[in-house]
Amino acid sequence: MSSAIFIIGAITDEMRASLSPDFILHDVAQMDDVETWLAANGQTIKYVLTNGHDGIADDWVTNMPNLKLISNYGVGYDAINAQAARASDILVTHTPDVLNDEVATTAIMLMLACYRELRASDQHIRSGAWGAGEMLTLSRSADHRRVGIVGLGRIGLAIADKLTAFHANIAYHSRSEKDVPFTYYADLQEMAKDCEALIVITPGGDETKHLVSKDVIEALGPDGVLINVARGTVVDEGALVDALANGTLGAAGLDVFEQEPHVPAALLDMPNVVVTPHIGSATIETRRAMGQLTVNNIISHAKTGKVFSPVPECRDIADMA
Ligand code: NAP
Repeated sequence: MSSAIFIIGAITDEMRASLSPDFILHDVAQMDDVETWLAANGQTIKYVLTNGHDGIADDWVTNMPNLKLISNYGVGYDAINAQAARASDILVTHTPDVLNDEVATTAIMLMLACYRELRASDQHIRSGAWGAGEMLTLSRSADHRRVGIVGLGRIGLAIADKLTAFHANIAYHSRSEKDVPFTYYADLQEMAKDCEALIVITPGGDETKHLVSKDVIEALGPDGVLINVARGTVVDEGALVDALANGTLGAAGLDVFEQEPHVPAALLDMPNVVVTPHIGSATIETRRAMGQLTVNNIISHAKTGKVFSPVPECRDIADMA
């Protein structure tokens, strides 16, 4: 008999086509009342397919007594309680590596847009100012900057790689020092003080909440550029808005926000802020690769009991494909 998959959030047609021959798909989006549906059908669910934004509520998991695997369509899984899942022998998988280059490109794109004031330049033409012969004020170079990467993991390293094209002097902060040719700072505020730009790319969750604090933002300073492609919670958004408003921070490029899809209105009025709607990995090519890994974890588990990419919390109970 086909196993049932409980789908939270949107998936691509390609993912649906890969799964539908062998599984029964139940979409939360089609349910009038999820709790009622789970009370009647939760015991039929063997797999959950969700994403980094929606995750899954603990009480939904409790109502799926035969759940074996939560497959996350994304690398960040802070919206899933992976420790609780592990304690119940439920595997959690995610999509590391296949999105490193794309998210790094998004970070670099935001950094370039801040330094070269892309928004003002674009607006100069659209407003007719260029045609009317008005001068655009000069922007600043993105080359040869002292850039601090907050979180030198898979994506952080891809960002460092792309930054070398801009001759950046790279520093980094993470929990542990790495064997890399960049300057390590155990103290994030010290790094911010010594850098001109910070690029934030840690996981979200309680451990990193407001890691980029008011003090870190102020240490970056009035000419400083803050790029966040991690999770909105990693930066103290209130302090960020204040610092941009009173000039204690120079500019910000933000792909993520504390209460998505809400973006503080004050940020949208600031000419020195570039915002994107959490599109770090959102290209056709990269989402295809992420989608394949997401469904392959489920298909492989159903056929062989093995998975390709368990999260660290579940590695000890995972049979690797
Ligand atoms: P990763 O390989 O696990 O790297 C995470 C890095 O963050 C590691 O260097 C780790 O340090 C560091 N870190 C973790 N907790 C920390 C803490 N409390 N203080 C300082 N550093 C800390 O993860 P990844 O694959 O690069 O992904 C990173 C994150 O990017 C994801 O979890 C997700 O939240 C975000 N992301 C965003 C988008 C987007 O669309 N904007 C897309 C993909 C991913 P150690 O190595 O010392 O442990």
